[in-house]
Amino acid sequence: MSASVPGPGGSLVGGPSDPEHDPRASYALEPAYVARLTDRVLATSGTTVPLSSPLDGAPLANIPQSSAADVDEAYRRARAAQKQWARTSLEERSAILLRLHDIVLDRQDEIMDLIQLESGKARKHAFDEPLHIALTARYYARTAHRHLDTERKSGVIPVLTRVEQNRIPKGVVGIISPWNYPFTMALCDGLPALLAGNAVVTKPDAQTMLSALLGAELLEEAGFPRDLWVVVAGPGRELGTPMIERSDYICFTGSTATGKIIAKQCAERLIGCSLELGGKNPILVLRDADIERAAEGAVRATFSNAGQLCVSTERMFVADQIYDRFVERFVARTKAMTLGTAMEWDVDMGSLISQDQLDTVTAHVEDAVAKGATVLAGGRARPDLGPYFYEPTILEGVTPEMTCFGNETFGPVISIYRFHDESDAIERANEGEYGLNAAIYTRDGARGRAIARQIKCGTVNVNEAFGATFASIDSPMGGMRESGMGRRQGSEGIHRYTESQAVATQRLLRFAPQYGLSDRGYAKVMTASLRVLNKLGRA
Ligand code: NAD
Repeated sequence: MSASVPGPGGSLVGGPSDPEHDPRASYALEPAYVARLTDRVLATSGTTVPLSSPLDGAPLANIPQSSAADVDEAYRRARAAQKQWARTSLEERSAILLRLHDIVLDRQDEIMDLIQLESGKARKHAFDEPLHIALTARYYARTAHRHLDTERKSGVIPVLTRVEQNRIPKGVVGIISPWNYPFTMALCDGLPALLAGNAVVTKPDAQTMLSALLGAELLEEAGFPRDLWVVVAGPGRELGTPMIERSDYICFTGSTATGKIIAKQCAERLIGCSLELGGKNPILVLRDADIERAAEGAVRATFSNAGQLCVSTERMFVADQIYDRFVERFVARTKAMTLGTAMEWDVDMGSLISQDQLDTVTAHVEDAVAKGATVLAGGRARPDLGPYFYEPTILEGVTPEMTCFGNETFGPVISIYRFHDESDAIERANEGEYGLNAAIYTRDGARGRAIARQIKCGTVNVNEAFGATFASIDSPMGGMRESGMGRRQGSEGIHRYTESQAVATQRLLRFAPQYGLSDRGYAKVMTASLRVLNKLGRA
């Protein structure tokens, strides 16, 4: 099925409101629409790479590829644009972000269509992306002054030493993003970077360039100058190094293995980086949990975007007392899920993105079953639905020698374990090297929060899967241990893009003997002053 180039709010393909829509039809994009988006890649190499939809394998676009020279030009343009941009007021920048908020909500159908075509995910999971960008844009626009205004600090000598802290933009930020949430992961980290006065050069994942390019178009439509956000395309292994060599800061989201390579290269140049990496996230269902609520949450925690979500759950620990009743409900809900390629709201889970993902998921499940695990639900690929579909899968009896015990599957597969006492569950949840996200289900919120403090994860959700922390933009989001470094969102999510500068203005007294005082006399006066300040309770 082909559709015309959409105007604002239009849909790219037939959907629920289109009576002609055949859910099994092949989806194709209008060439003029594709050209409008791909024109935004800064690429002069003359080579292109074909992009096809995981829903049906149909070709979507040919993506122009950037060379190292193009990366150089991208930074030259971004650097020039940043100099102008740094002179704009916070009011002006915030107003653009608020316009972006409205544009993204207005054009959500087009955004979701493109996300679904490129990633194969279900529409309800695609919706999370414009939602997250709107939340992020509004949060940073409304809190700009709180994060970026010059702040008064206490001076060493009260009244006489006046100290201020400035937040200076880093310059040009390089953003390298993954394919799993192609619209929001390409944009969300860049919004605070722009607000703080930086420019961005971004390299989205090759499998989902169109969603990222639509994001770039919307930024310009909202009012950001075009060269403030430059997009390059190509393999990360080739473009990553030239980007790091030219960036003042790197924001990376992707696998732990790549994150380590990037951290080393940033260390060589002594530039900062934030790394949002993988996870093997636990969910704890305590004995007092509301079973139906926990089962519903567990389905979302595990199978959102077919489990291709950094914060999704792959290990579940359930209290002995409710194990059988809970598992019965969780399995029933999982088996009732609808899978499909239709771009409609009632599909519960879509496709994996690629053959690579399908191979990993298949290998993890086959390995577990061969070593004695039991499949309680799913456990099969579904080529009848699309090339990369895999059923939502629940495994019981997973043991440490199985690959899926400690390795991230990044697919719709969860291992479920019984626990007798909570300290044992906490210890097992903390096993391994990751520490991204956890969920706890209990009727006692205070107990849930107390347990959260003992979990080594950057975000913990009580009675929710992952959305409560992820959508609360005022709260920091990121990983402990091998799940990352630094945080997106909240004040940490914007301060990472600034250099802190302290400016102290000294009045009257110098930091040296004066008025005929000897060095020894000066030391005595200072010592006495310190004692007085301590008695007064000063910091
Ligand atoms: P990946 O590391 O292979 O690729 C991510 C990005 O890095 C892509 O744009 C890729 O082109 C680029 N890249 C690859 N090698 C590079 C190199 N040597 N130098 C510079 N860039 C390079 O990750 P993936 O497999 O595509 O993504 C899935 C992983 O991302 C999972 O582990 C998932 O948990 C993680 N992830 C984490 C978060 C988070 O917020 N913590 C969010 C989404 C995904």
